[in-house]
Amino acid sequence: MSSLNPPQREAIRYLDGPLLVLAGAGSGKTRVITEKIAYLIEVCGFSPGNIAAITFTNKAAKEMQARVSKLLADKPSKGLTISTFHALGVRILREEARTLGYKPNFSILDSTDCFAIVSELAASVDKAVIRKLQSLISNWKSALVSPDQARKEAQNDTELLAANAFASYSATLQAYQAVDFDDLIALPVALFENHPEVREKWQNRLRYLLIDEYQDTNTSQYRLLKLLAGPRAAFTAVGDDDQAIYGWRGADIENLRGLPRDYPQLKLIKLEQNYRSTVRILKAANALIAHNEKLFDKKLWSDLGHGDPITVSICQDNEKEAEAVVMKLQAHRFEHRGAFRDYAILYRGNFQARALEHFLRNQRIPYLLSGGQSFFEKSEIKDLVAYLRLLANDADDPAFIRAVGTPRRGVGASTLQALGGYAGERHLSLFAAAFEQGFAQRVQPRQLAPLLEFCEFINRLQARADRDPAAQLLGELLDAIAYEDWLNERDEKRAAQIKWGNVQEFCDWLGKKGQEENKTLIDLTQTIALINLLDKNEADVDAVQLSTLHAAKGLEFRHVFLIGIEEGILPHREAQADGRIEEERRLMYVGITRAQRSLHLSYCERRKQGRETIPCEPSRFVAEMGSEDLRVSGGKSAAPPDKAANSDRLAAMKAMLGKAR
Ligand code: ATP
Ligand code: MG
Repeated sequence: MSSLNPPQREAIRYLDGPLLVLAGAGSGKTRVITEKIAYLIEVCGFSPGNIAAITFTNKAAKEMQARVSKLLADKPSKGLTISTFHALGVRILREEARTLGYKPNFSILDSTDCFAIVSELAASVDKAVIRKLQSLISNWKSALVSPDQARKEAQNDTELLAANAFASYSATLQAYQAVDFDDLIALPVALFENHPEVREKWQNRLRYLLIDEYQDTNTSQYRLLKLLAGPRAAFTAVGDDDQAIYGWRGADIENLRGLPRDYPQLKLIKLEQNYRSTVRILKAANALIAHNEKLFDKKLWSDLGHGDPITVSICQDNEKEAEAVVMKLQAHRFEHRGAFRDYAILYRGNFQARALEHFLRNQRIPYLLSGGQSFFEKSEIKDLVAYLRLLANDADDPAFIRAVGTPRRGVGASTLQALGGYAGERHLSLFAAAFEQGFAQRVQPRQLAPLLEFCEFINRLQARADRDPAAQLLGELLDAIAYEDWLNERDEKRAAQIKWGNVQEFCDWLGKKGQEENKTLIDLTQTIALINLLDKNEADVDAVQLSTLHAAKGLEFRHVFLIGIEEGILPHREAQADGRIEEERRLMYVGITRAQRSLHLSYCERRKQGRETIPCEPSRFVAEMGSEDLRVSGGKSAAPPDKAANSDRLAAMKAMLGKAR
């Protein structure tokens, strides 16, 4: 504790009621949470099982767990909850499923499964429309709006269409004994609201709550927090309104404003010293965010020295930009004798990573990509997970359909259609319907035979899912369905090899996890749904980190490159059209404040988009950072980056931006 500053210490020791720590980036908010967990256990005698810390990503949870273990040295932290809201939701639902009319083996559908369901219900093939409906439904669910309410409040045809689909969507999920990500919060909320005895049980179990990144909680998460905290209101929330970047996904800064209203006794502590970045980086971040309307007044200073100026590179086009960034990173690393892991390249959208990857591979620079397609989203892994889901819950129709067709086993589309029709009439799952006499009469024996063979195969494995080790079961399953042969039949040799390698990695992972945490196949299947690439254990690899700005929240790197700082990208075109510039500015603020020692921005004069090449303009955010600490180079009028030329160019840029707006 001795290394902490006085307000941090005060925040850690404060236990008289609800506490909000509101402070800018890098001021040690997350550190307050980890130290407070240790303090509660070591000094206050809390049992670890009575403490729950909520983080924003699984990766953050893992990191926090590691830090707490270090702080506690030899003290055991068994039973301590450090997880995301969603993982906590799974735990609550597993234990209380029956009260809600679910089996504890319920399936968790990912957004691709949900997309398929919505598209069927809306009878539409237009992907953009379906995505819109899906996001409307998701936002209603995270705002705890019911289908009836949604229908009443629908403002236009799209919303009405979505509201109508919403009711059938919920019914479909229930029939599959499945939940989506939003349900992982909304269902525990409903449970606690309708069952006081269950609520009290959990309130007595989780007696102290700590929440990181509070500014990005949505309405249902806030409600869950309030229900868990109960009248005792023993919690510490930490956050920064200037880093709220998930408004588009239903997070609501109103929940930050709501805290002092809902808890009049709320204690507010501010932290003002930044321990992460140099003065120049911090000054630029402060100058930028000053353009947003202030919710809470904050000051932020650093005594880590002035540091290097921030560089701004103007590049001819996006390929030149990727190349320039990689070369500059390489040169910088040689000069500073740094490690690859000291570097991060951050961008607004995943599409920006492609060109970078190309040049990084060329230069043989190791890199890790996060926020992109996750390991668990790969088709071969999803094939296997479908089997596992079906073993855990045979009412999971989306899993049934995927598994029955992988590999093809002679169950044709017409058989499946007949099965779907019959199951629909009788309100049965596809799996259950296959065994019915009534269905057998509707199809030819040669159609029925392979279907029944499949169902009996699942039945046999199911009987063992509770007892046998998960990896062993999966191994046998792979043999039985001859999955490797299936990959070889369908894909080219090299692709099939890569996929089979992934399958084996998955088996190893499953075996290790099963042993480590003594988890059954069903536990593991539910865990998988929550995992993303960020969770793979990559901390020890020396590699450059490539990440979207959103996925970089809460992290820090010695040297940061922010690329594509252009109008239309950051701020994003759609955000501009919807008037969400302030959220984009916060995203830029998050990017800048990830940097500890040096920061490098770049933007293009032109950008290739499909076959077209379009002219680009620098993001207004560059000018908003103030010109004093920026060093501009490159561009058409490439001149030595001396101070006068530099400020000339910035003045020209500002004038141009003025015109653009
Ligand atoms: P963000 O808003 O980006 O999530 P944060 O407020 O959570 O940032 P932390 O990540 O907790 O900030 O801390 C930033 C850095 O400062 C970390 O490297 C942390 O170890 C360090 N730090 C925090 N408090 C202190 C302190 N009192 N003395 C020295 N270093 C500190
Ligand atoms: Mg933090």
